[in-house]
Amino acid sequence: MREYETYKCNKCGNIVEVQSVGGGELHCCGEAMQMVETYPKSCV
Ligand SMILES: [Zn+2]
Repeated sequence: MREYETYKCNKCGNIVEVQSVGGGELHCCGEAMQMVETYPKSCV
């Protein structure tokens, strides 16, 4: 099972962190959110 993915809405800028990925799609503003990161970075 995947863990810790980050999704971003390109319309409004919402960012959602998913701790446990169940396989469903995340939606915001009527569109699917885009995955921007698959693992938390120790330093940015
Ligand atoms: Zn949105």
